Amino acid sequence: MTEDFRPAEALAARLRDRIATDGPLPVSAFMMQALFDPMFGFYATKDPLGAHNDFITAPEISQMFGELIGLWAVECWSQMGEPDPVQLIELGPGTGRMMSDVARVLRAAPGLVAAAEVTLVEASPALKMVQGRTLAGAPVPIRWAPRLDSVRPGPTLLLANEFLDCLPVRQAIRHEGVWRERCVAMHPDEGERFAFVLGPALSAPDLALIPAPLHDLPDGSLVELRPADAAVVEAVAERLNDHPGYALFIDYGAVEPDHGDTLQAIRKHEKVDPLDAPGTADLTAWVAFDALARAGLDAGLQVFGPVEQGQFLKGLGLDVRAALLAKAQDREGRARLERQAARLSAPEEMGALFKVIAFASPGLAPPPGLDRYTLPE
Ligand code: SAH
Repeated sequence: MTEDFRPAEALAARLRDRIATDGPLPVSAFMMQALFDPMFGFYATKDPLGAHNDFITAPEISQMFGELIGLWAVECWSQMGEPDPVQLIELGPGTGRMMSDVARVLRAAPGLVAAAEVTLVEASPALKMVQGRTLAGAPVPIRWAPRLDSVRPGPTLLLANEFLDCLPVRQAIRHEGVWRERCVAMHPDEGERFAFVLGPALSAPDLALIPAPLHDLPDGSLVELRPADAAVVEAVAERLNDHPGYALFIDYGAVEPDHGDTLQAIRKHEKVDPLDAPGTADLTAWVAFDALARAGLDAGLQVFGPVEQGQFLKGLGLDVRAALLAKAQDREGRARLERQAARLSAPEEMGALFKVIAFASPGLAPPPGLDRYTLPE
């Protein structure tokens, strides 16, 4: 008799064993393993089309998204003085759709097509295969790297859409006047289930990560810390401080320091309990754009934005692009393009929740569509 093999059960067992040995896991460790356990994590086991089925991102909604980002990159390259070669890097490329749309508009700048060396930074072996298929006909050479710091050094154009939101988030809860790490343990009554528990008090360096206006929130308040995002910005700065470059991040989140639990799990377009059946749902949390901007300034970079996605895309010519593509369409096709543009840019759709921020090497001009970030008073 053979039993069905269920990756979700195997992952739950791994997490249970880990908790039994090490004690409660910080939320960030739980999230990391649920997404990236090399055998049973969400990004490792999901057949990627299935993964693609769980949520839909801007590049999958419309080719116009990647095309406008591509035009942004062409303009940045020209502002850099048209370096050759230039490393065109994407972090977390998903199905490869955005890069294929970017690559198509690069054809408008033959010098850039000749200069660009594309590197996709991807953790999921399954998605790497999908990316290879999507980009089989691309006019530029494609490589993969496991991490940003292993990409060939040099002038850089870096793009990342919905990458930061899936990096592990830490959560802290104020309890009796003390900030404590939120952890995951086994449920006290239902031994098979996971439950949130209060972990140890935050250390002094961790406390310093909580934005000052949030320090004295009342008991029961929750703040999120994103050390992994800051580490990405530092890795970006290592490149951009050595060679000219721009880096563009698009994601959902808040611009002002904020508090509250934003950890969410999406399975087949439905919000589900983040602790239920780890590895079978996508876990994300909001990006904190104020912290991201500060990390950029601290690392010596110029910071531009954040601006809402709708405003950014319209500034880059979303409506003009839609009208141009519509010329070759029948009435149904035109309606589809209009609908896509609205999904990307209308405030009640992705237009306002999603924000855009860019970093640039010292001395470079502002990138298209973004104003210089100014520190709040
Ligand atoms: N940018 C794509 C996909 C977003 S999903 C889109 O907009 O459609 C997040 C992507 O980031 C996936 O490709 C995932 O495998 C990848 N990813 C997440 N964490 C990563 C990490 N630490 N290193 C490399 N890739 C990562």
